[in-house]
Amino acid sequence: MKNIKMFLVRYAEIGTKGKNRYVFEDVLCKRIRNRLKPLGEFDVRRDFGRIYIEAKSDYDYDEAVDKLTKIFGIVGLCPVTVADEFTYESISKAAIEHFEESFGNSADNPYDGYNFSFKVHTRRVNKNFPMNSMEVDMEIGHDLLEKFESEGLHVDVHKPDIMVEVELRGEQAYVYSKIIPGPGGLPVGTNGKAMSLLSGGIDSPVATYMIGKRGVEMEAVYYNSPPYTSARALEKVEKLGRIVAQYTGPIKFYNVNFTDIQLCIYDNCPHDQLTIIMKRIMFQIAERLAAQDDCQAIVTGESIGQVSSQTMQSLGVIDAAVQCPVYRPVVGMDKQEIVEYSQKIGTFETSIEPYEDCCTIFVDKHPVTKPKMFAIQKSESHLVGKIEELIDKAVETAEIKFLS
Ligand code: ATP
Ligand code: MG
Repeated sequence: MKNIKMFLVRYAEIGTKGKNRYVFEDVLCKRIRNRLKPLGEFDVRRDFGRIYIEAKSDYDYDEAVDKLTKIFGIVGLCPVTVADEFTYESISKAAIEHFEESFGNSADNPYDGYNFSFKVHTRRVNKNFPMNSMEVDMEIGHDLLEKFESEGLHVDVHKPDIMVEVELRGEQAYVYSKIIPGPGGLPVGTNGKAMSLLSGGIDSPVATYMIGKRGVEMEAVYYNSPPYTSARALEKVEKLGRIVAQYTGPIKFYNVNFTDIQLCIYDNCPHDQLTIIMKRIMFQIAERLAAQDDCQAIVTGESIGQVSSQTMQSLGVIDAAVQCPVYRPVVGMDKQEIVEYSQKIGTFETSIEPYEDCCTIFVDKHPVTKPKMFAIQKSESHLVGKIEELIDKAVETAEIKFLS
């Protein structure tokens, strides 16, 4: 599919936003322009509820498709063949060329050559075209059959394998047939901003992706405990952030040094409560960073019952550490479902690389599974006068990077 000069972008949900749809469409166009910028020159435009991308220079088709199918808001992407002229002969030539590009030379053709059924569907927006849409359907169908019937092509008007769309708009005719699925969702930047607690595991990259998919700009924070955790653990989290950023766009990433805080909790609190207290402080730091950057919520990869700190009681006590909303998009998913999701978005292989997490190092053999708020607060009272300064320092010294 080298000779494709145009794509038609299909989007679903943003079409339901009433008057705001222009805002959504404009943001989607902007995201598309940004993502394609490194690949060449493209004209991205809105036209009667559709978005067209037209290549104005040479570009790498596979690379462009890879980038476009990771943009939230895009439901499907149709490679379009544009007729040279607004005449029937030209449209027929474009349809044949389109078939050769899509099915003859294409490695991603799911059929054996031209062994499939088809139907032509014409939309004649420009009523000045001398043939009506039914005539175009029939004639193009006839021309395609004449060319490819001997190679297996046949017509099925009820349940065709391939729907060949012909669009006559303005003085242009477009032919397309294939829909490459996109991720769906809403374009990033249409729904505020959130701070994700990103660790090196399987769950939090999926959670970050899921909230980003709802149009939320994502930032991330990682709690690092050198020398108990290695530089490799940090590299791994950054790598995960970069994979997610292929979808969400650049992620502002905070690397927070958490060592002194962990040691302080370790020295002053009952060890079976360490994980809960540590999480509460992680949340408080995330809330401060979120407030600085105008993020409206924090996001985690917690799922009910997965580990002791994710029982209903634990999640409740952890939640109570902050004022801001906490979103846990994988809260009701089984581990296997989260694993499948991470495989789909491409984070799984990195997530399962071996690493030490700050939580696993200081973890007790028998952590509480049903913490009581008053007991946790009592333990935290032993931190008063020591921990505040450490939290301030952790916030102030956080290293910032943009992952993309
Ligand atoms: P994950 O697979 O996302 O690492 P997990 O199953 O290992 O999660 P926990 O270690 O209990 O579970 O962490 C629960 C959530 O807390 C994570 O999904 C993440 O959002 C956050 N979290 C845990 N450790 C860290 C850390 N070191 N830095 C930032 N966030 C963390
Ligand atoms: Mg983890």
